[in-house]
This record gives sequence, C-alpha cells and structure tokens, in this order.
Amino acid sequence: MRDVVIIGSGCAGLTAAIYAARANLRPLVIDGVEIGGQLSLTTLVENFPGFPEGVQGPELIQRMRDQAARFGAEYQAGNVTAADLTKRPFTLTLDGQCIETRTLIIASGASARWLGLESEKALIGKGVSSCATCDGFFFRGKKVLVVGGGDSAMEEGIFLTRFASSVEIVHRRDQFRASKIMLDRARHNDKITFTLDTVVDDILDPAQGEVVAAKLRNVKSNAVAQRDVSAVFVAIGHVPNTALFRGQLDMDAEGYLKTEHGTRTKIPGVFACGDVQDRVFRQAITASGSGCMAAIEAERYLESSG
Ligand code: NAP
Repeated sequence: MRDVVIIGSGCAGLTAAIYAARANLRPLVIDGVEIGGQLSLTTLVENFPGFPEGVQGPELIQRMRDQAARFGAEYQAGNVTAADLTKRPFTLTLDGQCIETRTLIIASGASARWLGLESEKALIGKGVSSCATCDGFFFRGKKVLVVGGGDSAMEEGIFLTRFASSVEIVHRRDQFRASKIMLDRARHNDKITFTLDTVVDDILDPAQGEVVAAKLRNVKSNAVAQRDVSAVFVAIGHVPNTALFRGQLDMDAEGYLKTEHGTRTKIPGVFACGDVQDRVFRQAITASGSGCMAAIEAERYLESSG
C-alpha cells in the first residue's frame, strides 16, 4: 500500500514527487507512455527560472527526476491501464499488476495532437514543434508555417511574428474555430498570411535532419505547392490523457479534469495537476507549480485522514 502514487513523469508529476518525497511519503511515480512529458520533446528551454543560459528540455526533466529520487521517490515504467477510484484504497492496474494507494496525483498531461506524418515525427525538435513559446526564438528572421484554425494557431502565429520574417497559417477549412478577436488580431498582422482549405502532406527533409520545406495540398482543387520554410508549428489542439477517469472524475467537454481549490478533484485524496487540468497556461513552470500544490494537498489529506 502506497501513501502517494503519481501518474505521469512530466514536470507536474516530478515536482509533485520532489515535494511528496521531501515530506517522507516515498511517492511512486508511474512514468506513462510519454516519459518526461512534453518537455522531453523540446530542445532548449529558456523560460524556466534558474537557467540563465537555458536548459535542454530532456536535461531539465532528468534533473527533476534525480532531485525527486534523491529524497526517496521511486519510479515505475509502464502505463496505467485501469483505475478504480470508487473504493479506498484506490487501485491502479499497471501492466497486469495491481497498485493500492491512499492518495493519487494525476499528472498524466495532455499530448499535443500531431498531423500524423512520418516526416513530422522525424523532425520534432528539428523544426517541427507544437510550442511556439518554447521554440519560436530559434527562427529569428526565418519563414515559418503554422497549421491549425483555432485560437492556438492564431496565438502561436501572432507570437511567432516577433521572430519570424513571415508566418503562414495553413488551415484545412475556410471557416475558423478561433475566436473573432484572435482571428482579427492575426488578420491585422502584416507578417501573417493565411492559406485555407489546405493541408500539409509532407515536411522536408528528414534526410537533412531539419525542416527546409512543406508540401501543401488544396483540398478543394487538389493543387499542390511547396513552401520553403524553416519550421512547421503544429497547433491543432491537445488531447488530455484522462480516458482512464471518464465516469469517475468531472471533466470539461474536451476531457480536461476539473479541479477546485487548486488541484482537488471531486474525490477527496485524488488530485490533478499540470496540463491534464490546465488548458490555459500549459507552461513547464505552471505545471511544476501545480505539481507542488498537489503534493502539499496530498500530504495534508493524509495527515487529516490519519
Ligand atoms: P481547437 O479550438 O480544437 O482548434 C484546433 C484546430 O486544429 C481546428 O481549426 C481544427 O480544424 C484543426 N485541426 C484539428 N485536427 C487537425 C488535423 N488533423 N489536421 C489539420 N487541422 C486539424 O484547439 P486549440 O486552438 O488548441 O484551442 C483549444 C482551446 O483552448 C479552445 O477552447 C481555445 O479557445 C482555447 N485557447 C484560447 C486561447 C486564447 O484565448 N488566448 C489560446 C489558445 C487556446 P477544424 O476547425 O477543421 O476542426
């Protein structure tokens, strides 16, 4: 029987682990499918406080892992396939094994939705990115492409105009999901152009190890075109990793966990932190902050429940 189990090993889960471990709770961190979360998919992180020269995302994650381990956190590889929060202790199924815990911290994150191209996969971190805040800086004076028609695509596009010489927003329809205000802002930005009814069919060039161009196709006319760009920012939404908890915890329409008083879910002893419950900020530092809150809440819960 565990006092604290943390699902997810991104910066929310690992910060929760540091705090829970320092409270002598010997937390068990279940790594999940995307070990290290979204930071492990990025390169240089320049906005995490304490690293004036920047730090590589995977290194930052490794440092957090080491820090939590130093105080007694334990790690288990694998993915939780079932969770029963209806009885106490809570039970999790992990690769056929059953784990019991008094408190549960859900830090399973949200995965960026990708286009699903082989070339896209090969070039993540080499010009293909799902985070303009993280990677925009590297494309100063370059031409970049943003895919998507929602608020994220507008926001990323507008943000990228600080660095890029031009930003082309490519959207698969001629109607937008983006709010009018965001769309208007993007439309009024001189550096932004729109290409509608168009999809990205391929990204070049995995053989060169960097993005040099994108192949586009108009879905109505089937006309194809190639754009010489240095980066492709995919902003087609995120998918919170909450399928396990459907029917047990409250979620919004898109599956993000609902929390109150910071990180509490509706089940006492179950807390949620990081991108799994945050669709607004989605930064490493905010995820870490909420991980800290979840661990402190879990500690208090354990104290008060004896
Ligand atoms: P979203 O609103 O779901 O928009 C996703 C966009 O990506 C849609 O235009 C969609 O096209 C497109 N898309 C989805 N799958 C695609 C695919 N496989 N290939 C090509 N295009 C694809 O997601 P979001 O923009 O991340 O926004 C999520 C939520 O966060 C929204 O509620 C948004 O308002 C909010 N948000 C707000 C702000 C802000 O206010 N500052 C900033 C960011 C996000 P279709 O339209 O054709 O489906």
